[in-house]
Amino acid sequence: MANILVFIETKKDEIREFSLEVLNTASKIADASGGKVYALLVGKTDGFDDTLAHYGADVIYKVSDERLSNYLTVPYAKAVKAAMDKAGASVFLLSATSLGKDLAPRVAAKFGVPMVSDITGLEYKDGKFEIVKPLYAGKVYGTFELSADPAIISLRPKIFEKGEPDTSRSASSEELTVDLTDDDFRAKVVEVKEKETGEIDVTEADIIVSGGRGVKGPEGFELLRQLIDVLNKAGVGKVALGASRVAVDSGWIDHSHQVGQTGKVVAPKLYMAFGISGAIQHLAGMRTSKVIVAVNKDPEAPIFKVADYGLVEDLFKVVPEMIKELKEIYKVE
Ligand SMILES: Cc1cc2nc3c(=O)[nH]c(=O)nc-3n(C[C@H](O)[C@H](O)[C@H](O)COP(=O)(O)OP(=O)(O)OC[C@H]3O[C@@H](n4cnc5c(N)ncnc54)[C@H](O)[C@@H]3O)c2cc1C
Repeated sequence: MANILVFIETKKDEIREFSLEVLNTASKIADASGGKVYALLVGKTDGFDDTLAHYGADVIYKVSDERLSNYLTVPYAKAVKAAMDKAGASVFLLSATSLGKDLAPRVAAKFGVPMVSDITGLEYKDGKFEIVKPLYAGKVYGTFELSADPAIISLRPKIFEKGEPDTSRSASSEELTVDLTDDDFRAKVVEVKEKETGEIDVTEADIIVSGGRGVKGPEGFELLRQLIDVLNKAGVGKVALGASRVAVDSGWIDHSHQVGQTGKVVAPKLYMAFGISGAIQHLAGMRTSKVIVAVNKDPEAPIFKVADYGLVEDLFKVVPEMIKELKEIYKVE
């Protein structure tokens, strides 16, 4: 039997989809192991009970404290530890978002709990957890059996299915008391300023249209933005603009768009790479995308080794054609 604790991340009073992916995964494992799923909410805790129950929570732990309305590493780590102890959790699961990448190692280091980060596969077989994890910047995938109990596991966003909500499910909820002292609040969030770009972040996107050195400058990215505009109008999902590091370092586009080892790790349904060679550091950030399309003039470009569909062609010919065709197919302007 494996009880599982899941950290629920919220943003602008909504549960982040990545947490529902984790919850649904936990629910499947709990079914297989006969354990329970405990969902942990910290800070803003009201109004989420039904959603959490429908996606697989059996019990909801709430740490409602005004001081925790913004994420803070130290007290959040304490809340996680208190919840793990109370639930008797064999594993603590969370999404490997920016927050998750900060929180999980803190809990691991502070409380001596073993941790596996950014995994892409998780199953429960013969009473053991089996984990798939990308290694060497995604060049190989290792399958591991988890021997530690308890352990912390962070799941790569957009890899695991969120599933469909089961509205017949219900969950109990209880307030969790965490022994927080002034010392835990030595760091304070004074103000949160969000970048108002109006663009979808690559980590949230269903489709990423990405450009590299081959787009030749900021104007090339404007062309890719036109393609994104048509896809958005076609209503095919959330579409974001990605970039290689060369494009970012050249000052053609902001770093927030960079995909790769020193950028963001993404796993959209569709990743379209235009004028990107496919260096290992770029592949590390996007090779777990469900479908990869590459357009490159060089037939030997390494990106073609990971691409599901490849086109050896000049992107400046291909992108305008795509825009024209899509406008006709989806009847948009
Ligand atoms: C420690 C470290 C970390 C790094 N982190 C990252 C990272 O996070 N993300 C990342 O992307 N890189 C990263 N890099 C850099 C990486 O090694 C590559 O240099 C980079 O990814 C190359 O970018 P690119 O593919 O745009 O450029 P290039 O490798 O120069 O490739 C450009 C491609 O465009 C094609 N092309 C040119 N013109 C056209 C055209 N008109 N139509 C179609 N195709 C065309 C060319 O054939 C070529 O294949 C990192 C490097 C290091 C050392």
